[in-house]
Amino acid sequence: MTDTLDCLVIGGGPAGLTAAIYLSRFRRSVLVIDKGWSRAKWITLSHNLPGFPEGISGAALLERLRDQARRYGAVLEHGTVERLHPAADGLFAAEMGGTAILARTVVLAGGVVENNPPLPHVADAVKNGLIRTCPICDGFEAIGKKVAVLGDGEHAAAEALFLRTFSSHVTLLLPAEDAVLQPETRAALLAANVDTYCVAVGSVTIGADGVTAVGDGGGLPHRFDMVYSAFGIIPQTMLAIEAGAKVDAANRLLTDEHQETTTRGLFAAGDLVRGLNQIAVAEGEAAIAATAIHNRLARSVA
Ligand SMILES: Cc1cc2nc3c(=O)[nH]c(=O)nc-3n(C[C@H](O)[C@H](O)[C@H](O)COP(=O)(O)OP(=O)(O)OC[C@H]3O[C@@H](n4cnc5c(N)ncnc54)[C@H](O)[C@@H]3O)c2cc1C
Repeated sequence: MTDTLDCLVIGGGPAGLTAAIYLSRFRRSVLVIDKGWSRAKWITLSHNLPGFPEGISGAALLERLRDQARRYGAVLEHGTVERLHPAADGLFAAEMGGTAILARTVVLAGGVVENNPPLPHVADAVKNGLIRTCPICDGFEAIGKKVAVLGDGEHAAAEALFLRTFSSHVTLLLPAEDAVLQPETRAALLAANVDTYCVAVGSVTIGADGVTAVGDGGGLPHRFDMVYSAFGIIPQTMLAIEAGAKVDAANRLLTDEHQETTTRGLFAAGDLVRGLNQIAVAEGEAAIAATAIHNRLARSVA
């Protein structure tokens, strides 16, 4: 059992590390526990993070955030928080590998887990920019390219329409079992000149410099410069639900304007809260949560 922490941060991605930076600079005791699967690790070079005009890789960003948090006294540990529940006196009790942790407040920043496309060598293809997951992040880098979107019907269709801002060659590839679209979605795709094909996912091939797919009617393969995967995500909200917090229909955590969940003292920031899945949003939410936590806890005077 450790001393009671001012705040336990669960998750060491951009959200959790930003919360740790703010809280440690507010002179609060903070422990960050992270199992190390931040989605940011997948980013080869991000060009939309404000303040990095030349771009920055996800790995470099995480290293900078960790360094900054440690400088002010935050403790960072590798591990998985397995349980979280309210304890006596308004505290939270967490469990990690047989260790019990007590904290006055918690920031849950566990992010989301991507449903990867059922294609081989996904990690390499993401690194090379042939498979992409986030049109908000890198649609700009797709300007003028031949772009395919492969994924779950309505969700993939929305991404295809979004990508028309960047390319006049956008094709929607629907796995046969997900080929059902609302009539208004089909009309919108038609109006936006988005071609739609049903494909067997097995026909989608990632080559050295492009992607090919064969429609279910056969014929010559269609060739693309890249494919956006749109198979959805799983928000990591299990611990919060265990601690009594409520989620919306999409399993995102409900929070108030201070990022506090419906369980008092349990705050949440980052991808597991809102659907935008952006680093700037994760960091902003973490700053809001950390400041609310500092204002909630009893003040010590220098
Ligand atoms: C290929 C790709 C490219 C992207 N490009 C951009 C971009 O250019 N710009 C941009 O803004 N965004 C981009 N994103 C999105 C960005 O990575 C996320 O928005 C961001 O990482 C979210 O931060 P987070 O802290 O909420 O979650 P994450 O970064 O996912 O971190 C959550 C952390 O919590 C850990 N965790 C979960 N549960 C537990 C537990 N029980 N115990 C301990 N640890 C736990 C996870 O392992 C993980 O390390 C991209 C994402 C991908 C996949």
